[in-house]
Amino acid sequence: MRKEIIAGNWKMNKNVSQTKDYFSELLPLISTDKREVVIFPPFTSLSAAVSCTQGSCVKIGAQNMYFEDSGAFTGEVSAEMIRDTGAVRVLVGHSERRTLFGETDETVNKKLRKAFETGLSPIMCVGEDLNQRQSGETFDFIASQIRNGLAGIENDSIVVAYEPIWAIGTGVTATSGQAEEVCGFIRERLAEQFGNAADGIRILYGGSVKAGNIKELMAMEDIDGVLVGGASLKSEFADIVNYDD
Ligand code: PEP
Repeated sequence: MRKEIIAGNWKMNKNVSQTKDYFSELLPLISTDKREVVIFPPFTSLSAAVSCTQGSCVKIGAQNMYFEDSGAFTGEVSAEMIRDTGAVRVLVGHSERRTLFGETDETVNKKLRKAFETGLSPIMCVGEDLNQRQSGETFDFIASQIRNGLAGIENDSIVVAYEPIWAIGTGVTATSGQAEEVCGFIRERLAEQFGNAADGIRILYGGSVKAGNIKELMAMEDIDGVLVGGASLKSEFADIVNYDD
């Protein structure tokens, strides 16, 4: 049994007062222990989000972290600092971190190790761009992101999010068939590393998920949840969390 995860990535949106307003609107609309609900606010709103969601079904995570404990790393935030806010999860290797800020499989791997060591539960993001899809490289590329990102990692509480770059923020969603094809492929790769435990690893889909397509995506065998960007900023997120299976 894999508990579903419905996650919202706010990206660089919402200050502290907008965070408080958001949760006072959202929390009365959702209540579920059947699904894990996680919101990823920007660093500056983490503490406010943690206090707003205390006692609710919503957990809080950070959108990024650094792999060193402390020191001369101007602008970076450590895993321990994130833990200290009360956040419990962290996104690692989101495609915007990879394409805009130089994140590599090697830094993803270091961050995952540090997150586990610190007691933060990571979600590792992978996904191909449009060129790679059109030239038939999707599966080789995803396999290399999984192999290199997870090198030497034994902790099978890892969560993997498949987010095709061509579907992020574009309004274009992968069809449920396309998403399932890659998520199933990811589970096979996870089985090579984790054996039977791969059956228990949650794999999420992300890319223009909305209230209107969540049900179809979640009906797929290897899709155990979603990572939602744009639609997590609005009260539509409650409809996504409450989707009727
Ligand atoms: C994301 O940022 O992870 C994402 C999937 O964004 P969107 O839902 O807006 O495509």
